[in-house]
Amino acid sequence: MKVGIPKEKYPDEQRVAMTPDVAPKLLALGFSVAVETGAGTAASYSDNAYREAGADIMPSAKELWAQCDIMLKVRAPERDEVELLKSGQTLIGFFWPAQNPKMLKTLADRGVTVLAMDSIPRLSRAQKMDALSSMANVGGYRAVIEAAEHFGRFFTGQVTAAGRVEPAKVLVIGAGVAGLSAIGTAGGMGAIVRGFDTRPEVKEQIESLNAQFLALDVADEDGSGEDGYAKVMSEAYINAEMALFAEQAKEVDIIITTALVHGKPAPKLITADMIGSMKPGSVVVDLAAEQGGNCELTVPGELVIHGGVTIIGYTDLPSRMASQSSQLYATNLMHLLAELTPEKDGQIVLNMDDDVIRGATICTGGKITWPPPAPKLTQAPKKKISVSAPAVKIEKKKKISLFGPVIAVMAATLILLGLGTVAPPNFMAHLKIFVLASFVAYMVVWNVSPTLHTSLMSMNNAISSVIVVGALLQVSAASEVVKWVAVIAIFFTSINILGGFAVTHRMLKMFRKSST
Ligand code: NAD
Repeated sequence: MKVGIPKEKYPDEQRVAMTPDVAPKLLALGFSVAVETGAGTAASYSDNAYREAGADIMPSAKELWAQCDIMLKVRAPERDEVELLKSGQTLIGFFWPAQNPKMLKTLADRGVTVLAMDSIPRLSRAQKMDALSSMANVGGYRAVIEAAEHFGRFFTGQVTAAGRVEPAKVLVIGAGVAGLSAIGTAGGMGAIVRGFDTRPEVKEQIESLNAQFLALDVADEDGSGEDGYAKVMSEAYINAEMALFAEQAKEVDIIITTALVHGKPAPKLITADMIGSMKPGSVVVDLAAEQGGNCELTVPGELVIHGGVTIIGYTDLPSRMASQSSQLYATNLMHLLAELTPEKDGQIVLNMDDDVIRGATICTGGKITWPPPAPKLTQAPKKKISVSAPAVKIEKKKKISLFGPVIAVMAATLILLGLGTVAPPNFMAHLKIFVLASFVAYMVVWNVSPTLHTSLMSMNNAISSVIVVGALLQVSAASEVVKWVAVIAIFFTSINILGGFAVTHRMLKMFRKSST
């Protein structure tokens, strides 16, 4: 079958559905690939690059649509593209069937098979095809870059001869894929980052990115929905979170909002008053702009300034990083095509018993097959947190009682004094070294991030193999038995030492940034 990649027609869309890097993987699946001339230019992929990757270049969209069996697109087809689709053809791309019911009916009537990338179910197995997440990841990153461009200060704090610069404070509302990407990016640029979400299970994810999780205790309410997305929150909850944002707005420099509830308009969480209370020069980036926006003053697709605060409502953030977005999207499409081509013979098989293919197929054989039956969830909603009274509070550190440790130290001192009166002086000297070594080892391990524990343990393993020293001293012993025991000990301890250092080296390599 022939796969066709047209130039996107949507105004200012710069992405392309296939890149020269990924095209050879389609050829390996048995497909031939054709690309409309200039399709990748806006994403920095030239016709020549596609040609070198083994694709044919088609001089016009008309020829491409006429000759290909499978069309790969980014955006839903424009009206003139719908006219070009014919019976038996397969179209894969974003489609948003709930928003495009008329177009869906037209395509179904025409006998076209449509697989919507936005309808891929959220199953672990489908993550490699999850284009919504890929684009959200790019969007979150780009939101921080846009904020940085319009925020007239550093993100990171500095102490310079010219004075001290405070780090920027960034609040990210909604810690889904885009929100977490924004938190990671802003943190990486040195800002102090705070994150909020209605799903309490994201607390650990936010904290793992070294950001502060703003907790909101509203009696027995958890935002985790049953389909892996968030659910609509009660009015009381929304009011409580807005009170929290009103406090935060006075303090932070940048707010990035990503709060969405699947299939619903975006909740309005940032009011004009909150914007009025922000410091001049502050920036709000509203990633929910396309769904109406989280901020009252957002104008979808536009940048507006209110009282010195810049409000960015761009709806094309992934397209503003077209080369990267196209690469990720093309990879998602390639994985879906691989799923559709079990024999790798360039012939797609629409297996409607496959959860992922069933979920993505919105029409085929003249019938509308959307919405699909509910998929089996891999992300079970976590149990609810129940809190007695409705209250808004930012999480504080618990008070640590010193009573226990003081008693323990006193008891240990008494035991040592008692022991000192009866034990030989040699024993006490060894005990002292043992206790101090245990304390140092405990403090060293305690302060190491859990992610580094494996490397620390393997390093420890290597160093602690001092047994080899004893064995080396005994290897020239007169007794044959002692000699061979020493040889065996040297052999096994060497494995321990070399293995320990090798594992440490491999683990640490994972944390090192490649210099190439
Ligand atoms: P989304 O774009 O639908 O929503 C963005 C975030 O807004 C969500 O985290 C949501 O909880 C939050 N939100 C909604 N209402 C809010 C409110 N009133 N105030 C504050 N925050 C609010 O979410 P998403 O990025 O698509 O991801 C949702 C979850 O699904 C994430 O945990 C993600 O990791 C998970 N996910 C799983 C898979 C998979 O298993 N294949 C794929 C993608 C995402």
